[in-house]
Amino acid sequence: MAEMKIIVQKYGGTSVGTSERIKSVAQRIKKYIDKGYSVVVVVSAMGKTTDTLIALANEISLQPDKRELDMLLSTGEQVTIALLAMALHEIGIDAISYTGSQIKLITDGNFSNAKIESISTEKIMNSLKNNKVVIVAGFQGIDSDENITTLGRGGSDTSAAALAAVLKTRDCEIYTDVDGVFTADPRVVPNTRKLKEISYDEMLELARLGAGVLHSRSVEFSKKYNIRLHVRSSFNYEEGTIVMPREEMMEKFVISGITSKMDESMITIRDIPDRPGIAAKIFDIFGQNKIYVNMIVQSTGKDKLASISITVRKSDFKKAMDLCESINKDFKAGGVQSKEDIAIVSAVGVGMLSAYGVAGKIFSIMSEHGINIEMISTSEIGISCVIDSMYAELAVKALHKEFIGPEQK
Ligand code: ADP
Ligand code: ASP
Ligand code: MG
Repeated sequence: MAEMKIIVQKYGGTSVGTSERIKSVAQRIKKYIDKGYSVVVVVSAMGKTTDTLIALANEISLQPDKRELDMLLSTGEQVTIALLAMALHEIGIDAISYTGSQIKLITDGNFSNAKIESISTEKIMNSLKNNKVVIVAGFQGIDSDENITTLGRGGSDTSAAALAAVLKTRDCEIYTDVDGVFTADPRVVPNTRKLKEISYDEMLELARLGAGVLHSRSVEFSKKYNIRLHVRSSFNYEEGTIVMPREEMMEKFVISGITSKMDESMITIRDIPDRPGIAAKIFDIFGQNKIYVNMIVQSTGKDKLASISITVRKSDFKKAMDLCESINKDFKAGGVQSKEDIAIVSAVGVGMLSAYGVAGKIFSIMSEHGINIEMISTSEIGISCVIDSMYAELAVKALHKEFIGPEQK
């Protein structure tokens, strides 16, 4: 038998939002079958189904049990896999749908944000060998006790990249509702530019810092297993953006993208005794309470006292505030200050490694627009500023104009 040419394709919510869209996805898959590919398809829930299911749960309970919420949310993807299989059957293509549990996609037990541990390829490979298109429900798996888990919002991208990894193929296409990865969210900033290619590191940084076009763990998988993620539109046949190793890239920019992360809150504990081990103790408390701390900035003051500022998800704000208040009391610190609505605005680019003055330019643009910077954090290839959330859009547009420019390349 000739060697199989496997391609993994993932179709997001808008791409499978209606029965017409599902039929059009089936036609696209047919083109790949005709070209001799063995196709594994990962799909999301139709349209805004996941949001609707969350709203439904919240009509019953504002804090639904996490296991039951994952049980509910996983139904969205199950609808799409069956409908897509039917659409393929209608045009004469053999196809079979599988849930996460049926392909033994095993995750840890962290409901609503589970991490993939392993996937069995047996069923998938057998079906491919029998010339079937394999359709897998994205975003879901099971833990070691067979509870249904989900991978976090946007997690179907990660299901697709993980499948490409275990099926040992470099080809993974992420079909979405924009033409690729842009220099900023094209729905927010006018005159953004589509990138032909972007490195794993930059894409990972952008995804972590709020660019919702890819789930950050899908980029981690792709980097680790050398998968070329092709982000493209399901509404046309244009080439999109390839996420690839930096060494293989043809075009390189100082700044590849500007992004913002909303729904974050900032908390500062002032004048904590500055002794070895204090920060460790504090972050241990956050870890035990399963609160994800995004940014951390410590500034030393006078008299062996320091201030620690953190940002957390807005949904964790109340819990984090309670913890900070008790830390403040236990360590006899100088008080807790907070801002519930902040945004983290970031510029990302590998070129920063070798460019001078990028940080200074960012700060002066912020000040020219009267935007106060509450916190700053840097990585090798990114600079992030915490600002009031009401200025997020203005800041992104201003940074984009300065670093990437209005002209279309
Ligand atoms: P899907 O349902 O296909 O997974 P998502 O809504 O998760 O789609 O991701 C696509 C969206 O990501 C786009 O509609 C766009 O508004 C948003 N987005 C944010 N930042 C970027 C960016 N830098 N490039 C492209 N799209 C972006
Ligand atoms: N349906 C899930 C969500 O809306 C997963 C995904 O679309 O990737 O977050
Ligand atoms: Mg998505």
